[in-house]
Amino acid sequence: MMDFAAITDKGKSRKDNEDFFTASRNLFIVADGMGGHKAGDVASKLAVQTIAKLYRSVKPEADRQKVIERLFKEANMAVMERASRISSEQGMGTTLTLMLIHTDKAYFGHIGDSRAYLFRNNKLNQLTSDHSLVADMVQDGRITEEEARAHPYRNVITKALGSEEKIKPDIFSIDVNPGDRILICSDGLTSMVDDSNIQTTLQGSENLKAICSALVKKANDNGGSDNITAIIVNFDGVKPKKRLTKIALASMALLLTILISSLALNSIINNSFYIGFSGRKVALYRGLPYKFLSWDLHKTAYVSDINRNQMPSLWRERVTKTFSVDSYKKGMLSIKEIEKDSVSKKP
Ligand code: CA
Repeated sequence: MMDFAAITDKGKSRKDNEDFFTASRNLFIVADGMGGHKAGDVASKLAVQTIAKLYRSVKPEADRQKVIERLFKEANMAVMERASRISSEQGMGTTLTLMLIHTDKAYFGHIGDSRAYLFRNNKLNQLTSDHSLVADMVQDGRITEEEARAHPYRNVITKALGSEEKIKPDIFSIDVNPGDRILICSDGLTSMVDDSNIQTTLQGSENLKAICSALVKKANDNGGSDNITAIIVNFDGVKPKKRLTKIALASMALLLTILISSLALNSIINNSFYIGFSGRKVALYRGLPYKFLSWDLHKTAYVSDINRNQMPSLWRERVTKTFSVDSYKKGMLSIKEIEKDSVSKKP
């Protein structure tokens, strides 16, 4: 089971919000668009909507990593195709960080400098790597994380969706545990609020919506120089897959009980014999002298020629009430005895 909350905010200095997100039962995306004259807005929205629409038709058994590859490819084509048609939108692109939940795993697809974090055991870990100039500079040891956040080129990204025909998003998956939280956010949050501050906020026990709002407030309090988007997904309690297993186990146990009961009943029926009347004739029956719903729990094994009015009255009473015998053989002996007594009674 999981719940989630999402928020997007223009920030304090941008005129428009070019971030776009979707958060649904098992698909979460943050996209941060770029391009003049609101084209960034178009790119992020178009990419997210293309993916969300396609994902609805993905088969449950499909390989999630391949699915993500295809979703990025289709979204990239949609953005490029539109940019090629509308001159004011030429050169637009978007970051895109996506998470799919499938069975017990979270699958990620990522391009650009939006981020996904795992918050586990009160520790925050960045799952994605920024595809940005400053991230490369930090990697090379030329600047620190702190300097990167204030660097004049901090907005320059090295990979984006919509930027070229062939894109290579980072694709990976993690196992999720109860208690895990995933944060997906745009750089409007991470350029204003450092990781330790995000970690402290995620430790909060308020509801997820309130934690999202607290993150946005911190980003705005620190300047709010960019659009801010944050999605928090919280995994808790029993995982759906385990619940299914429990249901499956319970059904199997029930089926097994029914099977064993019917086998036991069958064995009782096959190994029980009794003497009774079949019509007016004495008969040996295999089974029990009862009916269950509309089924007879017995079959005739042998029908004698002796008629009830040929029988001595003592036998007639016993056979009318029916009496059980230990085996087929013993039953046949009893019938022989009845036949003998009856024949001797014959005139
Ligand atoms: Ca941004």
